[in-house]
Amino acid sequence: MPNPEQPLLPFQAAEAEHWREQAQCRHADPGHFFPDDEDGPDADPAKQLCGICPVRQVCLDDAVLHRDFTGIRAGLSGRERRDINVEARTRYEPARVLAAMRGLRVHLSLTERHTLIRLAVLRGYPRTWLANRLTMTPDAAGRLLKKAAEIQAAVAAVSRTTLDRAA
Ligand code: SF4
Repeated sequence: MPNPEQPLLPFQAAEAEHWREQAQCRHADPGHFFPDDEDGPDADPAKQLCGICPVRQVCLDDAVLHRDFTGIRAGLSGRERRDINVEARTRYEPARVLAAMRGLRVHLSLTERHTLIRLAVLRGYPRTWLANRLTMTPDAAGRLLKKAAEIQAAVAAVSRTTLDRAA
């Protein structure tokens, strides 16, 4: 789990665009980031560098997004990042959904993905728009949009029936 003494910055979409240019590890020895024991003292130099890195949160997002669980990233071992990945499935941060709508590559939890899909249906965005944001084929995105539209129509129908009965 993250060290509470090194709190992560809140997610900021603007950071997500050119974050690698601000990475503390840009000129560091890559060997430090791949110690034999990621949870042992050999990993300390890398973790200390991450502890003062201004783009640690975005780095963590990127690692989770790409399921990168090898080596030290964002001050965490691969095992710790797997735990974060499990926690992230239930996260809901509107800023992430908005960032994805703007076309930024950010990690979205399942809840955030569903929100993005519902917004795409409500706004009538094409399947290619969703495909680009969820990095999937247009056919797969089209199926998600169709399913979400069906669910929204069913919910609307139930709501109308309930209101009619109450009237
Ligand atoms: S958090 Fe660590 S691994 Fe990630 S960019 Fe910063 S220094 Fe590099």
